[in-house]
Amino acid sequence: MNHTLPGAPYFHYGDPGLMVEGLSLAALAQEHGTPLYVYSKAAMQGALAAYQAGFAGRKAQICYAMKANSSLAVLQVFARAGCGFDIVSGGELARVRAAGGDMQKVIFSGVGKTRLEMRDALAAGIGCFNVESEPEIEVLNAVAVSMGLRAPISIRVNPNVDPKTHPYISTGLKGNKFGIAHERTLATYQHAATLPGLRIVGIDCHIGSQITEEAPYLDALDRMLDLVQAIEATGIALEHIDFGGGLGIQYYDEVPPAADALWAKLLQKIDARSLEKHTLMIEPGRSLVGNAGVCITEVLYLKPGEQKNFCIVDAAMNDLPRPAMYQAYHAIVPLQPSTASAVHTVYDVVGPVCESGDWIGRDRALAAQPGQQLAVMSAGAYCMSMASNYNTRGRAAEVLVDGDKATVIRARESLSELFRGECLAD
Ligand SMILES: *Cc1c(COP(=O)(O)O)cnc(C)c1O
Repeated sequence: MNHTLPGAPYFHYGDPGLMVEGLSLAALAQEHGTPLYVYSKAAMQGALAAYQAGFAGRKAQICYAMKANSSLAVLQVFARAGCGFDIVSGGELARVRAAGGDMQKVIFSGVGKTRLEMRDALAAGIGCFNVESEPEIEVLNAVAVSMGLRAPISIRVNPNVDPKTHPYISTGLKGNKFGIAHERTLATYQHAATLPGLRIVGIDCHIGSQITEEAPYLDALDRMLDLVQAIEATGIALEHIDFGGGLGIQYYDEVPPAADALWAKLLQKIDARSLEKHTLMIEPGRSLVGNAGVCITEVLYLKPGEQKNFCIVDAAMNDLPRPAMYQAYHAIVPLQPSTASAVHTVYDVVGPVCESGDWIGRDRALAAQPGQQLAVMSAGAYCMSMASNYNTRGRAAEVLVDGDKATVIRARESLSELFRGECLAD
């Protein structure tokens, strides 16, 4: 690899091979088995600190988009650092509660909130519902009225901006299912303001994920600020402007804008329009956790072929779904660096699942040997939280490292857990 290792400096090569903070990944794999997720607490705190630096001296709230990695101990790291949470389901609300998060700092996004989820979130006293459609406004109003409450809302605007990322993770284009069209927003606010079960508190957008350029952000912000001024001109006050998440990370050689530098530019635009009295909110997910984790896997078999050589490992698409879902790239590196003279062969790195889509990396030059361990880098976001039990594979264990201390934050899923809730029909 001739660019920096994703996850550096928290993941780095040392005497015992690849390390996370002060610990050897090989030693962790030896103790806990593979596939194994290993996270660096300092990497999470470091990523958060960049956002906090960008907002220094401003009224701001960072809401971690927890679908990126919703393991309880990960949520706890962010809750203790003062973060709120962007949730997308009643299940995620329960996780925030279990992790000790502050309900007032919870915002609830998603196009398909059920009445039951709305009731639970209202009863919990969350900070804001990010409403994504006109019919949802009516339902939320009715649910709140039935409980004698007013639901705090923000309308998610679809600004029709191309984030220049993979189509499956673009969310702010006209053809996407998310948000309310830019042209409909003002009328929707005016209608919402007449409903007795709602209290307007903000405006939000979220244009996509793994965004590595600043231009889409700057364009979307201009469109949002136009709307803020148009809405406030009608006498509807907004307390906060929520700018969503989506900042990209380095998987290969991408160089996304740094959070603090990007925010300096965005804040300039806000100040230029004298809108600085609003609380600023953001919903970062991937950029807080993606490069704070790796997945360690062991080589099971090498299978040379006429067209392709396969390196079959013990992690699969049920553990690392991003390549199968969006042809995503993860760096794959050996825990013990291979010597310059070692023979490298080009492999497709694949898992044991019975699908041709079960690949983790394509055309990777490795000096692989059965029994050798590899680290799949940038596995902190959208990996464990998307993991499944396909092929009746238990989900991997997770370890959180803090300096030279390792804590198992999720036990490896056992076979009996895989059958839980099932029974034979007669
Ligand atoms: C997924 C999501 C985010 C986080 O996106 P990242 O790319 O992980 O930063 C933020 N807001 C909403 C509404 C989302 O759906």
